[in-house]
Amino acid sequence: MVWKREHACACPARNRDVLRADNVTFSYHRGGAPVVADWSAEFPVGSTTALTGPSGRGKSTLLYLLGLMLRPDSGEISIDGTPASALRDAARAHLRAQKFGFVFQDAALDTTRTVMDNILETALYRGERRNGVAVRGAELLTRLGVDVPEDRKPGQISGGQAQRIALCRALVSEPRILLADEPTGNLDAATSAVVVDALTDHAASGAVVVIVTHSPAVAGACDRRIDL
Ligand code: ADP
Ligand code: MG
Repeated sequence: MVWKREHACACPARNRDVLRADNVTFSYHRGGAPVVADWSAEFPVGSTTALTGPSGRGKSTLLYLLGLMLRPDSGEISIDGTPASALRDAARAHLRAQKFGFVFQDAALDTTRTVMDNILETALYRGERRNGVAVRGAELLTRLGVDVPEDRKPGQISGGQAQRIALCRALVSEPRILLADEPTGNLDAATSAVVVDALTDHAASGAVVVIVTHSPAVAGACDRRIDL
């Protein structure tokens, strides 16, 4: 594990326990070899963490565990001091909707909806008003350099655009915890830098940001790095 440039947060009380993993073990098959074994980490508010390591090491799996999409076989994921592993599905879904933004490795946009409807989906589910979020969504599209009409469908855009639209969808709700799985995988260096800037700014606004990446440049731009 490599730790870099730890942030001295000005607000230690808020820094406590926003997202942490304690002794997490997980296997996809009962009795099979664990993909994640006895893994612990804390993620400070206001900082970006790069999760790195070779393909197949379990980076995406860890992100799903941290994002409450998978349950550990043993150990605990805690959100704001609340142990989440034993919560019912509905309570976990509520936590996910209220506190998390997630950027999937393959963007995972809804192909039946327009670009803007994809971006607004989660925010509207959270109960936000469409007009306000639509303005933020349009600003994010511009900031991330996605130059496509808002009423276009995901089948008519490039992979790199889809990735950034997925990031807009995650950022538009200003989530306390943002987990991004290889968010710059389809992007050139200059566009990657724009994405990293947006993620860094989001962390600085008081969020936890975790980025799975193979890119040395992206990992180098993060405050800390956990190598799996
Ligand atoms: P990474 O993101 O580091 O490339 P993954 O978390 O995707 O790694 O995968 C870790 C391991 O878990 C790999 O051996 C992979 O084959 C396995 N794996 C991933 N998803 C599943 C799944 N849904 N069912 C069974 N095995 C899986
Ligand atoms: Mg992966």
